[in-house]
Amino acid sequence: MNSSHTYNTCSLLNNSLTITTHAHIKPCCRFGYSKNGPHVDNMGVDNILLSETWKEYREKMKTDSLSQCSICYYAEENHNTSLRMTMNESNSYLGQEIDKIEGKLELLEVNISNLCNLQCRSCGPTCSTSWFDDAKLIDATIPFKLSQLNEYESKKIEFIKQLDLSNLKILKLLGGETFYPNALLRMFSMLDQKIKFENVSLLIYTNCTFFPLDEIIDKLLTFVKICLRLSLDATKELNDYIRSGSNWSTIEKVADRWIELAKHNHNLDVGVACTESILNTSNMNELESWTTKKQISLMKNKLIQPSFLRHDLFENGTEADKEKFKTVMKFLDKKYDITLEKINPMLWKFIYELEN
Ligand code: SF4
Ligand code: SF4
Repeated sequence: MNSSHTYNTCSLLNNSLTITTHAHIKPCCRFGYSKNGPHVDNMGVDNILLSETWKEYREKMKTDSLSQCSICYYAEENHNTSLRMTMNESNSYLGQEIDKIEGKLELLEVNISNLCNLQCRSCGPTCSTSWFDDAKLIDATIPFKLSQLNEYESKKIEFIKQLDLSNLKILKLLGGETFYPNALLRMFSMLDQKIKFENVSLLIYTNCTFFPLDEIIDKLLTFVKICLRLSLDATKELNDYIRSGSNWSTIEKVADRWIELAKHNHNLDVGVACTESILNTSNMNELESWTTKKQISLMKNKLIQPSFLRHDLFENGTEADKEKFKTVMKFLDKKYDITLEKINPMLWKFIYELEN
């Protein structure tokens, strides 16, 4: 084990599973994986957490570095808090006591579908179908054909249907945009046969571009605790710039409806999850003021990928990343008829000065 690493174990290797957009199975969202790694097509549902693959993960971490966990190692080497530090050090999460016993599935994270109406600048085709046409621009791979969207969603539902969820305490649901009704209602309907919602805490994300159907709200409120995270990176025009395809006035109206709902339902906690990148790092105070005014929490995560948008791009980024930044911004500025010069003149000036 590298001496700068904080632990040689991770509780998520014992008690957690993540099912990705394209149906790969991993211990957590940060875990790197290969194309040929565990997938719903090649993994039996008999306790995955006790499978040879998961045993090997745990053994490798005890004695060596587990290469798939490089995100956590990187955080620890840089004296930041890694996900495994958070999970190892806490015995409760989202209001639930966590046992962390090997083989007992307590946390399940599912990327329901990557169907999304936005093309956020920090995103890509793995998470958003709106990026499919422009995947080449960011050297990304399209996870599957658009026509296979329903097939992948169904595969995941069928797989989860067969898992032992008797110990489940935390369910995390992600998109794409999570609140598109068809996929979410199908997921809820399957889960209804498997778990008691009143015993499980739900962590769920939305891009806040529309308010869900009543049917979904009714179901949502049956979870013992719901942590709803609005994925927002800035306010006003900068929001519209970063989260291409969105409109701040709509977002604020939808956010207000969620906040109002939380006032009448104390099991609903509304907060903002923000990704800090080169595009918003100097404007954080505006989002902070907005969340303070709305009396909701703000959780900031520094962007790691794509590297051409990292918050310290101009101090520490590579020349290739700086070039990529300019190419991608120029392309999306034209596509969405919005310019960096207008939205963030200081950043634009900085780039312009670098060019000349
Ligand atoms: S060490 Fe980090 S990346 Fe690896 S399983 Fe734990 S939380 Fe996930
Ligand atoms: S809303 Fe989420 S999934 Fe959609 S493009 Fe933005 S970051 Fe990606």
